Amino acid sequence: MYLSYTIHYSDIAELPTTVLRRSEGREAVAKHFLLFWVIGDVMKKNIGINVEPPEKTCEDSKCAWHGKLPVRGRIFIGVVRSAKSHGTAVVEWGYHKPVPKYESYERRNTRVTAHNPPCMHAREGDTVTIAECRQISKTKSFVVVSRTVPEVKGSKEEKT
Ligand SMILES: [Zn+2]
Repeated sequence: MYLSYTIHYSDIAELPTTVLRRSEGREAVAKHFLLFWVIGDVMKKNIGINVEPPEKTCEDSKCAWHGKLPVRGRIFIGVVRSAKSHGTAVVEWGYHKPVPKYESYERRNTRVTAHNPPCMHAREGDTVTIAECRQISKTKSFVVVSRTVPEVKGSKEEKT
């Protein structure tokens, strides 16, 4: 996780755009401090997806950020429908399928199970980004990489 070699200015030019963009707001900082700030951002692991890293850390080996779980393949954004299973979240998202006979669309849903590492702690109703990874168990081959808590907190619980 930590860098053990020296970083030169030429290396910074070749950094991924996500890392450089994160340091844009700090341009006012003196030049020799800029290097320090950029290195601080590099220490955050780059998992290859342009999403915000979690604030918490965890020791889950099956975490995309803190474990040894490479992500590759498809990325989806969905809503957590169930987080009851240990370390698992059921993520659902909808799509429209055309019905030629009635020249309209029908609403359909896709549900997949995704690994829910402790640093994410996704709960029911959260909007999450999931990324494809190796098969973790019989039905799990996705992992939660980012989480957005709904703005109106607890509104769903008040209605019921
Ligand atoms: Zn983690």
